[in-house]
Amino acid sequence: MAFFGTNGVRGIANEYITPQLAIDVARSLGTYMGSTGVVAIGRDTRASGEMLKSAAIAGALSAGLTVIDVGICPTPSVQYYVKEYADAGIVVTASHNPREYNGIKLIAADGSEMSREGEREIEKIYYSKEFNAAPWERTGDLRHDSNANEFYISGIINSVDHELIREKRFKVVVDTGCGAGSVTLPFLLQRLGCEVITINGQVDGTFPWRNPEPTPDVLTELADIVRKSGANMGVAQDGDADRAVFFDENGEFIEEEIQLAMMAKYVLARKKGPIVTPVSSSSRMLDVAKEAGVELNWTAVGSINVARKMMEIDAVFGGEGNGGLIFPEHQYCRDGAMACAKFLEIIANGQKLSELAQSVPEYFNSKTKVRIEDLPGAMEKVKEVVLSKDNEVDTRDGVKIWYDDGWVLIRPSGTEPIIRIFAESKTKERADELMNEGVELVNSSK
Ligand code: MG
Repeated sequence: MAFFGTNGVRGIANEYITPQLAIDVARSLGTYMGSTGVVAIGRDTRASGEMLKSAAIAGALSAGLTVIDVGICPTPSVQYYVKEYADAGIVVTASHNPREYNGIKLIAADGSEMSREGEREIEKIYYSKEFNAAPWERTGDLRHDSNANEFYISGIINSVDHELIREKRFKVVVDTGCGAGSVTLPFLLQRLGCEVITINGQVDGTFPWRNPEPTPDVLTELADIVRKSGANMGVAQDGDADRAVFFDENGEFIEEEIQLAMMAKYVLARKKGPIVTPVSSSSRMLDVAKEAGVELNWTAVGSINVARKMMEIDAVFGGEGNGGLIFPEHQYCRDGAMACAKFLEIIANGQKLSELAQSVPEYFNSKTKVRIEDLPGAMEKVKEVVLSKDNEVDTRDGVKIWYDDGWVLIRPSGTEPIIRIFAESKTKERADELMNEGVELVNSSK
């Protein structure tokens, strides 16, 4: 199994994600970089963060890199910093995973996530344990920079219509979940002239009130305060604040797929150009693209694939249906705070979030999984059967079969011996039907 998953390496802190692992990943990165260059190292608020960040710093210094310790930062803040001031980045984070987890994510020189090819090279070095050890006089220097978040906040402000937003004096309720967004989002909103009501805004790596994953069931208090305070919007972030979820002015949760499509709609109304999303995303994105008369490019699942495609075709917008939105005018990575500022710009332009959400077409989804021993074998057979039929088929990531009235995506898991089956259609019945067809197809390919 690959060392780096879809979002870096993750596991239980101090059991799997040990100081030794952090040292060795940083030494591998340093070796990969030829023992030269600057690496920015930051972390989210997890209790084990300081321990692992210190270890990563030691590893990078041992390889001869110059290290800039940027402290507690959202992942997109480290990425923004790397793009300007460093040759690579290390973020100690487990994103939305439960409290006890931690992990390491690597950032490329342009601020985007490390490419799969880069990760594979670094992985090879990690397992070979053949690290460059700098001679004593060339072990690295350590600097600290406490301005990374300020730099990041200014970057966002300059990427939206900040004057218009400021005029409106919005009221926004924020739940940063005690994660890394606690040190940026409330301050960004203040700078945008908002009255900010913050809950779970203290930095606390034990996450006393909710786990870092911002699901609607743990955000009832936020929704309540939006309603009672008459706020314009509610926003919650995951542990490393690259994703954000939103509540409209009525305190209603905006489903992430709808969030993605409504933002695409807003962006395309002002600027025409191609948009990008993974094959797992809802057809809402396709509808929005068709309506605007622009091209939609599908990619394999993973924000890095979306970001790279966006760069390649100069897309105007892209993102995943999990609350990870990418705005090229700011940077090529998921950015929850940027999405939040952009939603304020929408409201400032006179649109209610509830109305924009309702203008996005409705779809229903069904999903399940099938346990399977020979994953590659089964996927090959599924592909063979499907390609012999007349349907339009997309094999960019797993097998996606298009029908006139929906689609089914059959995708092997990267971490478990299971195949996931995900279907979408205009009615729940039809989505179930398509899902069941997918299950049958997988079962007959075992
Ligand atoms: Mg995250």
